[in-house]
Amino acid sequence: MNLYSGYINHLIEELAALPGIGDKSAARLAFHIVHMPKDRVLRLAASITDARDHVGHCAVCCTLTDGEICPICKDERRDHSTIMVVENTRDQAAYEKTGKYEGVYHVLHGAISPMLGIGPDDIRLKELMARLQKEDVKEVIIATNSSLEGETTAMYLSKLIKPTGIKVTRIASGVPVGGDLEYIDEVTLLRALEGRTEL
Ligand code: ZN
Repeated sequence: MNLYSGYINHLIEELAALPGIGDKSAARLAFHIVHMPKDRVLRLAASITDARDHVGHCAVCCTLTDGEICPICKDERRDHSTIMVVENTRDQAAYEKTGKYEGVYHVLHGAISPMLGIGPDDIRLKELMARLQKEDVKEVIIATNSSLEGETTAMYLSKLIKPTGIKVTRIASGVPVGGDLEYIDEVTLLRALEGRTEL
């Protein structure tokens, strides 16, 4: 459809390729952007390229950060002997928002999914195992989602970690099946954390 100029079409296409943005939203954003003051557009464009250029993975927990080590891993007041394993940075943010979890994290950046061809080597599992060998860890809390992929990952992890003698727990299943952790309210998240059981 060539209703709009090539430039507009191109912008709509790029925006529509982002997750959660359909064609209609993409068109709305594109029209908004072309009507924005030029300096704001430049700021927006720069913030996108800056984030892409400077954000990497924490050398310890693999979360997204613009330093070598993220603020949580650097924080000495946190309990570094308890590691909560989450699928992504958004899930980590959900737990962080409760303000009640005092341990540290490990971000897998995905979950094992035989159906999608995602195996253990495609997520940040090796990094976790290396960490468990180096650090004095007392408990690993598996907080992957309760989807099929999340459960598969949890089982795989517990099999891998248990022989090391480190306590492995799984958050309680108060979390709705298939529900993304980031959409669950803080009370439910805390209940799931407090009701965790040993695997
Ligand atoms: Zn970190």
